[in-house]
Formats: sequence, structure tokens, C-alpha cells
Amino acid sequence: MIGRKRMDKDYSLSVGKEEFLRKNFYETLLTVGNGYMCVRGSLEEGGSGVYPGTYIAGIYGGKDGVEIVNLPNPLAIALYINGKSVSNDFDIDEHRRILNIKHSSLFRETIFSRGDCKIRYRSSRFLSLKHRHLGGMWIEITPLEGNAEIKLKKYIDTATRNEQRPIGGPVKHYSVEEFGNGDNYIYVNARTKGTGYGINMLVYSPFGNWKYGSDDKGVYMETSESIYKGRTASFVFLIAARTTRDSLRPFKENLEDLKSLYVEDIWELHKKMWNKRWESSHFSSENEEIARAVRFDMYHLLIAAREDIDASVPAKTYSGEWYKGHIFWDNEIYAFPFYATTQPKIARNLLLYRYRRIDMAREKANRMGYRGILWPWESADTGKEETPDTWVNFDGSIIPVYTHKREQHIAGDVAYAVDYYYRATGDEDFMLRYGVEMIFETARFFASRVEERDGKYEIRCVIGPNEFHKCVNNNSYTNYLAKWCLKYAYNLYKKMKSKHPGILRKLSEKISLTESEVDEWPKIADRIVFLMKENGLIEEFEGYFDLEDVVIEEWDENGMPVWPKNVKLEEVHKTQLVKQADVVLLLHLFSEDFDENVKRINLDYYEKRTTHKSSLSVPSYAIINAELGRLDKAYKYFLRAVYTDLKDIYKNTHLGIHAAAMGGVWQIILHGFLGVRFHEDYLKISPSVPKELGKITTRFFYRGNLIETIASGKKISLKILKGRGGIEVKYGKDIHLLKKGEVLNL
Ligand code: BGC
Repeated sequence: MIGRKRMDKDYSLSVGKEEFLRKNFYETLLTVGNGYMCVRGSLEEGGSGVYPGTYIAGIYGGKDGVEIVNLPNPLAIALYINGKSVSNDFDIDEHRRILNIKHSSLFRETIFSRGDCKIRYRSSRFLSLKHRHLGGMWIEITPLEGNAEIKLKKYIDTATRNEQRPIGGPVKHYSVEEFGNGDNYIYVNARTKGTGYGINMLVYSPFGNWKYGSDDKGVYMETSESIYKGRTASFVFLIAARTTRDSLRPFKENLEDLKSLYVEDIWELHKKMWNKRWESSHFSSENEEIARAVRFDMYHLLIAAREDIDASVPAKTYSGEWYKGHIFWDNEIYAFPFYATTQPKIARNLLLYRYRRIDMAREKANRMGYRGILWPWESADTGKEETPDTWVNFDGSIIPVYTHKREQHIAGDVAYAVDYYYRATGDEDFMLRYGVEMIFETARFFASRVEERDGKYEIRCVIGPNEFHKCVNNNSYTNYLAKWCLKYAYNLYKKMKSKHPGILRKLSEKISLTESEVDEWPKIADRIVFLMKENGLIEEFEGYFDLEDVVIEEWDENGMPVWPKNVKLEEVHKTQLVKQADVVLLLHLFSEDFDENVKRINLDYYEKRTTHKSSLSVPSYAIINAELGRLDKAYKYFLRAVYTDLKDIYKNTHLGIHAAAMGGVWQIILHGFLGVRFHEDYLKISPSVPKELGKITTRFFYRGNLIETIASGKKISLKILKGRGGIEVKYGKDIHLLKKGEVLNL
């Protein structure tokens, strides 16, 4: 059975009996997956408070706005010992589960007892990284005291539904069209409501004498055995899931796969592919505890995406249903750099997820009276705007939502990710086929979005990253992105004109772009309002400094700001309190456009007013503190980001992993502690690693080269592990050449 061998403690998370007190929290942490399908770490026998979640990337359902569907659960079982159910009639003497993040598998051992009977139950599960439609599950049952008559029912549980919904109550987003069995297998054909995706889920056991049936919980295969004390009954199950999104005959292909492949082979290839993932997503530190936590964060990003499907990373990954499994800017601005620098093929695919939906973004811009493209604030399968009209506030109250109409920085966020990807990877093929079009169309959007007033261009009534203020003029973050994008698009156009005139001609024809239109872009950019005082202090939006000035005065045990007592949530917009990094995020994204003085004055100002009500706020504060040499503070923010989910800092991890914070952790390491920035011609590096981390080793891709860095304090060494080398590295004022086969010590 997998997971039986000694666990690699550097790549595992162990949980004991305490999980029974916080089941849903651990279910999120113990999610296994392969980017195509993910399953929450729920106990397979169910029981009170257990919440199984089975999600396939891209499978959404619902009529008025879609959400990720909690699908039939192929891991469910019911187990009876001497006629009694282990979940209802037995005590739990011992219990542990170990998530092996190295290969995404979850091992479990529970000792159940009742009177003289004691049973050891072991299971493990995985979803294959190599064969994305397949997974495996082992079960072993050993009577430790007394003999046992066991009855094992292996289910595909079709009683699942979406329950993590703040509005409207639980809902079942699929109907079962057919279920049944064949020799040694059971299956379910389901269809999502509203969206009509067909799903086939199949469970196959190559060995055993099975009987078949169905009940309220779903379809099952059942076997009974008498086991003597000390002997073990073993079961192995193969799982297959396919949908009509990826197959013409999901059932047939699932069955063929399961009958032709051996679980051991699937497992071996799965491990091989995982080894490759970790080869380039690497972090270690002399502070081993932190290193393990960082790898745990990386793990959750690694199971949330892959290179060969049409989906992106939802705000809560595929480990819960909060935010309906929708894809926000969280992906492009926070999670994306992790993929771009450690798994570039996945990153390319995440950008393609957007590109494939460009017509919907055109439509949205058009519908709102603009040109070019405006991505949905919340995106799902089709690329249609999926933001609900109402949502819950922190105090549980239901409030109207305006983000889809006003949070338009999403246009610039995606363009930023395109440029980030290009700078990091140098993937010209992507740029020529897709990226350039995305950039031109975004510039076009901003050019049509600005309003001329007194010779200046303004962007009025938007929501910036700080969502407390819901209709502001000239949000500095949004305006700066617009300026940047217009200039970038102009330069790109001129470059295309000299280097790829043929491609430019075709693209210009396709999107009816003329050079005279492009020539306007830098002129507009220069005149877009940017509210910066002479001393460098940036006003988050027009009139922000005139609002009531309230500052944070108390911090909790996790270093999180305590909400000022005299401010009511519904009146927060009258104050200068900020929900999440806004100006400070801008300083991070465009780090090299702002000098130290500007960073210091803005950090000092906004740090006192930022409530970090969203976990994605924290990383930019860590990065700018690190850039300013305030390593103590940077490290505190870093810890908060690292432990967002492991310590349940936002008290909502049971609803899913915070993808943006996880991505932010990587950005703190790469951009904050190593000071890496990607330039067109060189790689800039300026490390300042907090002493608490000692020596850290990281790996990242730059232009097809996998670079390993070992850094402590301000010292760093670089080595090319893969690739051709010949990279120019800027450290301080000097440029060094990083050659293949040599170590560059700086
Ligand atoms: C944040 C947004 C974020 C969303 C999803 C909100 O609370 O303010 O910036 O996109 O959560 O994570």
C-alpha cells in the first residue's frame, strides 16, 4: 500500500485525533489532486460534520450564474464490523493521517474499537498526475483484537451537493442520469444542471467477489469477509473521471483505461511526474519548519493547475467552494508568478485560459460602451461575467456587489501577467500568437475608458484593490496600470512593426487596428492622472486624504490588525481604512519605477491604515518592507502569509485554500528576499534574506534556464541546473555573466 513506507517528513503533513474537532479545516488542508480533479480530505466513511468535496476543473453548474460543482464522491465507503458501522458504533482509539505532498497522496490509519473488538483500518488515495482522469485507493483492514466479520461497501456517493454557500442554502448542481455496474465496477453518469456537462465516474476493483446495489447514498459494490485476528484484508480500487468537456465517450474511455492499466504502474508514473514538478518548484531553508510550510503552500498551487486542460486557478483552488470556484485577478497577480517561474508550461496554459475567452471579454467591454477587452471580474467556464449581484460581508450581512461593473483593474492585471510571463520566459511564440493581441486590446480598452477633463485623462467611478471604497475617481493602482499598458502596447507595436511586420499586419487587420490609433496611446498615457504629492506620497484615489483619518492601533496574536472599535463596517468608506494592499501593491508590481524614498513614505502611511481583511494583502507589505531593508517586519508578514491556511489565520480555511496568499508566499521569497526582477536583457538580483531563514535554496526558471540559488543575508550564489546559460545577472551596479557549469558567487 502506498504511504506505508517511512514518510518523508520534509514533504508531509501529519494530523492526529485533533482532526475530529475541526474536520472541515483539515479536509481543506488534506486535499489531494492533479490539477484536473481534486478531492477534499474527507474521511471516506463520512459521518457527522464530514464534508466531501470532489471537483473537476472547469465543471461548473447552475442556472443564474454558475459555480464549481461538488460532484459525486468516488472515495466514499461504508464499513461494518460484526454487523456494526464503524462510523456510528465504534470508538476511535487512535487516528492519524499523513498528507504526502511530494506525490499528493493521503495515508490514513485509524484504530476502531468496540468491546473486545479492535480493528486497524488503513487507507490511501491519490489522483494521478500523469493520467489525469485516473486515481487509486487502497484499503486494509486488520483485526487487532478478536476475529472480525467485515462488510465493505464501496460507493460512488451521489448524495453530495454544494453546501459552502453563503446565500441560498445547499444546492445540488448535478442530476444522476444513470448508474450501474459491470464485472468488478460501478459507475455513475451525471449531468450538471444549467450547463449540461456529462460526467462519468467509475470505480473498479480488479480483485474480489463483489455484489452490487444502490441506496440513498449512491451506487455501491459490496463484499464480506471473515478475518482472523492479525490477518489483513486488502482492497484496491481504481477511480476514473471524465466529462463531455474532454471526451466524446467518457464512460467507454474510463472503462478502457481501468481495464488496461495497473494501479502500480499508474502510481509509479504519477510519482515520476511529481518528482519533475518538485525539481523546479523547490524551496529549502535552514529553518526546516518554515521550509516545510512553504512547500505545503506550493503543493496547493501545484495541485490546482496543469498544462493540458482548459481551466485556471480559482480563488480557493479546487479545495472548497467559497467564491463559487470562480477565477479572479488573484490568479494573474498573485498565484501566476509561481507558475511562470517554476512551471512555465502551466503558466502559459493559464494565460491561454484567458485568451480562449477573449471574445467574451470583447463583448463585456462593448456592452459597457468601451472598446477592446475587459475580462470578467469573476470568471468560470465560458468567460462570461459570473460575479453575483450580492455577497456576504465580514459581519455576515448580505451586501450588493459592484465589482463586475467597476473593478476594472482586472484588464491591466491580465496584461501585467502577460508581460510578466514574457519577461520571465522569453516565450515569443506565445506573444506573437496571443500575447500581443491581448496587450493591444487592453490598451484599446483603457484608451476608450479614460475621460478627458481639463486637459487630463481621468478614470472615474472604479473600485480599486481596496474594495472598501466603491466608486472612486482616479484610483492610483488602476490609473498606473492604464498608463503602463498604453505605453507598453505602443512600444510593442513599434517593435512588431520592425521585427514581425507580417504578423502585425495580419493582427491589425483582424482587430482593425491602425497605426494612428496606436500613436495616440502614449499621448493618452502621459496625460492620465496619477495622484502623487511632491514628497512622493501617492493618494490612493481622488479625495482619499480628505476622508476621516483612522489608524490601526492594535494587532492580534497573529500580527493581524484589530478592527478599530469606533468604526462601523458599513461606514468604513468614510474613513481612510484600506481593505487590502492597493498603493503598496502598485509599488511591488512596478518596483523599479519607484525609488526608496517613495516606497518608504507610502509604506509608512498605508501600513497604519491597511486592515488586511483579505489574505492577499499581506505579501506586498512583506516585499516592500524587504526592499527597504526592514527585514524584521518583512519576516512577520511572510510568516502570516506562509501560515494563512496551516494556522487558519482568516478562520475560513474550511472553505478552501487561499490561492493568492500561497502565490504571494513565493513572490515574497523570489521578489522580496532574493530581490529578483526580470528585465528585457538581464536578471536583476539583490538578496536580503531574513536571518530567521538562515541559508535558503530556491529554483526558478528564467528564459528556459532552471537556476538554483543559495542565499543568506545579502550573499547569493547562482548555478544553472538546466538550459544553455549565458544569462546576464545584475547585482548592485555590476552585470555578471552566468554560464552553464559555473557557480556565480555574489
Ligand atoms: C478580495 C479580492 C479577491 C477576492 C477573491 C476579496 O475579498 O478583496 O481582491 O479577488 O476576495 O479572493
